Amino acid sequence: MASNRRAFLAATAVAALAAAPASAAPADPLETTARPRPTTARAALAELLAGNRRYATGGSRHPDEGLLHRHALAAGQHPFAVVIGCIDSRVPPELVFDQGLGDLICIRTAGQVLDEAVLASIQYGVQELHVPLVLVLGHERCGAVAATLDHLRTGAPVPGHLELLVDEIAPAALRTRHLPGDWAEHTMRANTVWVRDAIRADSAFAAATVTAARFDLDTGLISVLP
Ligand SMILES: [Zn+2]
Repeated sequence: MASNRRAFLAATAVAALAAAPASAAPADPLETTARPRPTTARAALAELLAGNRRYATGGSRHPDEGLLHRHALAAGQHPFAVVIGCIDSRVPPELVFDQGLGDLICIRTAGQVLDEAVLASIQYGVQELHVPLVLVLGHERCGAVAATLDHLRTGAPVPGHLELLVDEIAPAALRTRHLPGDWAEHTMRANTVWVRDAIRADSAFAAATVTAARFDLDTGLISVLP
């Protein structure tokens, strides 16, 4: 049923454009097929990972970015995932998951830390838009993590508003400081999993599946965190 939603939206847009003057938007070559919309968390994650494989291998399709889809979406949205990611310019969720307009609710803070505005935004997606999947996305070589570790190593004061990031990420850094290997990587993973677990523990999000993942800057690939 829901898999027909895109077909319906596309058909609606086609009809609207057909009734428009000839000078209206031309048919968009990107709008060739109606993609089935995931309606379960499992299907949503599979769609994200499939899109990420396309992105990582240079085969992005850039779906649903065209005029027809934009017109169709003007009447309403039915995104299938909430992504809570970092502000890092190298990790834009729509691109790294090869998704289009109307697919994802993207909430981005440095180090994907939580605050009340983030939680309220997740709640809007889960409760009002019935999004089945919430994905917390960390990434390697995160600047917010690096700033936190610098502060913990040197004790240097944290400037202004950055203090919030350090306060949120420092517990993950302190929990992993004893581990061998890359402290920044350990901290990023621990922080991402902590955010996932905090969302899972909140009854406001009980209707959704909450998953954590890591983005690899070198390969472009996403891996689900245990
Ligand atoms: Zn980052």
